[in-house]
Amino acid sequence: MERLYPRFIIIHHTAGHDAPALEIDAYHARRGFGVFLEEPEYLVEEYADRGFERVKKGVLIHIGYHYLIRADGSVEKGRPDFMRGAHCSAQNMNFKSVGVALTGNFDSVDNPDGRKGHTEPTASQMKSLRGLLDYLSDIYEIPQSGIILHRDVVGAATRCPGDRFAL
Ligand SMILES: [Zn+2]
Repeated sequence: MERLYPRFIIIHHTAGHDAPALEIDAYHARRGFGVFLEEPEYLVEEYADRGFERVKKGVLIHIGYHYLIRADGSVEKGRPDFMRGAHCSAQNMNFKSVGVALTGNFDSVDNPDGRKGHTEPTASQMKSLRGLLDYLSDIYEIPQSGIILHRDVVGAATRCPGDRFAL
């Protein structure tokens, strides 16, 4: 199986309403960048139990991020860390980074009045994000300079995670 050793962490917003990983998985399924997980078996079972689509001896995982941080601060696993992402094609980041997304739409132009989701990260989201960044940068030995907002990746034509987001 393909193995990814992350050298960067890329931060996103989902640009939408607070929703569980499985719902975003269904949404991302239409884009067709899913990965097929067939080992280890315990992990396949974990994803199948969560409701991800079972195919033969494995599961299909469509959600493009590796972690999703909900409005209440809970952290949901997206793809396993060792699988390629589908969250930032610029700089080939899908193959060398962990993608972390906060639910919500923090862009004042795209979402001025909150119709597309909460307009700024909740305190619980930021607390969980800091904890997750500490954890990931610790286990993968990623320096502070390797933690990048999606819009700051060279070549990425996006405002993600919105102008109302700051680390
Ligand atoms: Zn993004």
